[in-house]
Amino acid sequence: MSYTFTALTPESPVSRKEEPCLCAQGAECFSDSFQNGITEAHRVELAGEAWSECLQCKGTGVETVEYDERPSLNLNNENAKLLLGALGLSTDCWGEMTLPEARRGLMRARARKSLSEFTRASETFYGAPRADENGAIELRPFRGHSGGFSEESLRDRIERFALLVDQAAEQGATKIFWS
Ligand SMILES: [Zn+2]
Repeated sequence: MSYTFTALTPESPVSRKEEPCLCAQGAECFSDSFQNGITEAHRVELAGEAWSECLQCKGTGVETVEYDERPSLNLNNENAKLLLGALGLSTDCWGEMTLPEARRGLMRARARKSLSEFTRASETFYGAPRADENGAIELRPFRGHSGGFSEESLRDRIERFALLVDQAAEQGATKIFWS
């Protein structure tokens, strides 16, 4: 589960990029053209492998993909709540703030001498003792690990959030939403 902070801009900026179509994934150049862009030679090869009736690429092996370019920031639930806490904002799982509120929050967070109350240590979870397949007893079988959120990571997210607020203002947004 995660939270995404997004600026709602008057126009949703969209960028378009050509990518090799999945129907042409048999082409030898598929991953190369995916990672490094499509050359004219790739185009010929992709078209040769493409499915002639594909709706995505109309048989060319190359499709145009649209990307939402609205400024946004994604954080997992725990870290998003800690960031909102440091900004002094409500930590509901969805909400909105105006840009002035966001800027006041940033000033508050940057002015704090310590952010340690908004951090958490990494944790390792162990299960109940159990016997392994050789009959040996494991007293603390490993069950999982949860990465922590250090003060340094939090300060980094605060600065990324500041960047989001600046981009939002540049693009004419007045509010930032999270959900
Ligand atoms: Zn296709």
